[in-house]
Amino acid sequence: MEKSLIILKPDAVQRGLIGPILTRLEARGLKFIGIKLSQVSSELAHKHYGVHEGKPFFAGLVSYITSGPVLVVAVEGKDVIEIVRSTVGATNPVKAAPGTIRGDFGVNIGRNLIHASDSPENGEHEVALFFSSEELIRSERSVDQWITE
Ligand code: UDP
Repeated sequence: MEKSLIILKPDAVQRGLIGPILTRLEARGLKFIGIKLSQVSSELAHKHYGVHEGKPFFAGLVSYITSGPVLVVAVEGKDVIEIVRSTVGATNPVKAAPGTIRGDFGVNIGRNLIHASDSPENGEHEVALFFSSEELIRSERSVDQWITE
């Protein structure tokens, strides 16, 4: 079982794309274990994007992710890292394939709508950074037998 942290970034929230984006993730069969509207602090942004510190786009990235409310979503399941990343599409929406979230809704790398964890280790770490254990809900879905063999 893997976990992935998904963030609908401030542009997705401002543009009224919470519904369309969540619909795609939900329809794929992903199991949500946590969802909340949140305002990312500068401190949390620095922790979450620490790996990019020193890069030319870092200041703009921190300013972007802290610029307004975000929707934070945790999902859990087999292979969710790859499943979510493929649904999200390439980092640069210009290069993202049609049919992906970034490829269908975005045109600019600095406004690419959504974050998704890029490895099982980062998924665990990022979910724990954004959610307390009490905020994560695990339940059986009767439909699971029709989604996973
Ligand atoms: N980013 C940017 N300019 C760049 C590269 C990245 O603004 O040249 C931003 C973009 O919002 C991206 C985030 O930094 O989503 C993190 O970059 P990463 O390479 O980790 O891409 P991701 O995992 O989000 O696809």
